Amino acid sequence: MKIICIGRNYAEHAKEMKAELPKEPVFFMKPETALLKDEDFYLPEFTKDLHHEIELVLKICKVGKNIQAQFADKYYNEIGLGIDFTARDLQSNCKSKGLPWEIAKAFDNSAPIGGFIDKSKLEQNNIAFELKINGISKQIGNSKDLIFSFNNIIAYVSQFITLKVGDLIYTGTPEGVGPVKIGDVLEGYINNDKHLHLNIK
Ligand code: MG
Repeated sequence: MKIICIGRNYAEHAKEMKAELPKEPVFFMKPETALLKDEDFYLPEFTKDLHHEIELVLKICKVGKNIQAQFADKYYNEIGLGIDFTARDLQSNCKSKGLPWEIAKAFDNSAPIGGFIDKSKLEQNNIAFELKINGISKQIGNSKDLIFSFNNIIAYVSQFITLKVGDLIYTGTPEGVGPVKIGDVLEGYINNDKHLHLNIK
């Protein structure tokens, strides 16, 4: 399986990153070794500025290539919550040199994932989600604020890359990204129900 991540998909987050609003979706990938489920996260030594990015995640349920947006809904059946961990110091360095930023985004365990919900139980265009750290709210988002909708993401990405069953799409983070440190407890919520718990060690 593969993990596809959308960048800059919420206007307020693009603003905090001092990035322009994209005219087309921006995406990058993480390998399967990035997935972390039901385990603690150990802060890697290669970064001094590891940021949390809480994101709604689509689980692909059907193989597809060149999927039209109007049919994209048929290609995912569950929605969950994940964290796109980002070594912001390494990413800034890569960006300033015009280099790919895999070392900042695709390292082992950089994609914690929580429990999934059958998408029929959610109103796709109005999914509220939140990240709390040590009980304090850090990021609040809602799928209604996505620049590129779930269906448009799937249509765009599948022009380039075949989607397969079990692939995950991290759909972008809202504003409020920031650093984590050893001892932090991260909790993710969808519509006020807890779907993700992560201890930073
Ligand atoms: Mg992200």
